[in-house]
Amino acid sequence: MKVLIINCGSSSLKYQLIDSETEQVLAKGLCERIGIDGRLVYQKAGCDKEITEASMPTHNEAIAMVLDALTNDKTGAISDLKEIEAIGHRVVHGGEKFASSVLVTDDMIKAVEECADLAPLHNPANLIGINVCSKLMPGVPQVGVFDTAFHQTMPEKAFKYAIPTEYYEQYGIRKYGFHGTSHSFVSKEAAKFLGKDINNSKIIVCHLGNGASISAVVNGKCVDTSMGLTPLAGLAMGTRSGDLDPSVVEFLGKKLNLDASGVLNILNKKSGVFGLSRGLSSDFRDLEAAAEAGNHDAQVALEVFVYRVVTTIGSYVAAMDGVDTIAFTAGIGENDGHVRAEVMKNFHYLGIEIDAEKNSIRGENVKISTDDSKVDVVVIPTNEELAICRDTVAILSK
Ligand code: AMP
Repeated sequence: MKVLIINCGSSSLKYQLIDSETEQVLAKGLCERIGIDGRLVYQKAGCDKEITEASMPTHNEAIAMVLDALTNDKTGAISDLKEIEAIGHRVVHGGEKFASSVLVTDDMIKAVEECADLAPLHNPANLIGINVCSKLMPGVPQVGVFDTAFHQTMPEKAFKYAIPTEYYEQYGIRKYGFHGTSHSFVSKEAAKFLGKDINNSKIIVCHLGNGASISAVVNGKCVDTSMGLTPLAGLAMGTRSGDLDPSVVEFLGKKLNLDASGVLNILNKKSGVFGLSRGLSSDFRDLEAAAEAGNHDAQVALEVFVYRVVTTIGSYVAAMDGVDTIAFTAGIGENDGHVRAEVMKNFHYLGIEIDAEKNSIRGENVKISTDDSKVDVVVIPTNEELAICRDTVAILSK
């Protein structure tokens, strides 16, 4: 079955066409600057990228251009739109309404709309993608795959904030967690790769990218994760602060004469390793080069990042009463052997030993711990699109 995967943002859209039997990507790309001017990037498997500047006032034109590119006489990956038998959409926030992927129906759309105040930038954009696809490809079944769904198995003690319970009941204020599709995919892949039974496993997944989160997964089910009501919580990230004393919001607001959203803008966009390095970069390649050259701020930014990863892993080892596998994924987790090695230095007490040579391998599933290590440490490249494709096929074959 050919499945179109759509990840719709407010002014951009990523897509992939995947053959679910072979799990091969037939074509992929993105639309950028929707509503501003418009740019389509399209790449058929085995071919060069094509870039087209074209007017995209709305997502309607953007998705229409993607479908045209996919069926183009010369470089199209398919000859007829009818070949697309299903569409899988990434949806950011499913609140407590969705604990797994679901078929898109009127009721599902209504429920996603009801979660929109939890993700005001993302959910409306995701719904636009769903609506445009129903219009342009009527009758093709669509499935919604939620970033939050995997974390819905967290117990109350892990997801409740210690604030008056009425606010949880009335407004849904609690920890939801994000990157769920990646945490789910990587935990399953890690168990499969190591030949372990997922139903008898304790896995910590470190999704370390520009946005970063860690989850604790017992027997395939998430029991805790580091992001919260929003993706601002937890680790120090590229530009996000992660956890801090909530009083900082009022204190800094008074000092800078900003309201809460002004301070949150700083915590979301100007903080993390970017803020710690005085705006040098949010990219770890730049920070590591600067740290190597003696830049103290870059050194501290990297140390803070690593320290937060270490303390979060440590707390999840405690929460799970042990760990048998630690998996690294996403931009930093997959590519930055230095960060992985620095993090793992703090886990000698667990009997973890890293093989420096294996820790330098990139682009594939690899076990970077030695055979003597008491805990397996692996790098598993994440593939959220493939996870969405697999879920879409599974829902449709029910
Ligand atoms: P992601 O959000 O998963 O796409 O991750 C993006 C981040 O991964 C970038 O901002 C970099 O900090 C990091 N990254 C990507 N490639 C490398 C690399 N080769 N070495 C170190 N960090 C990298």
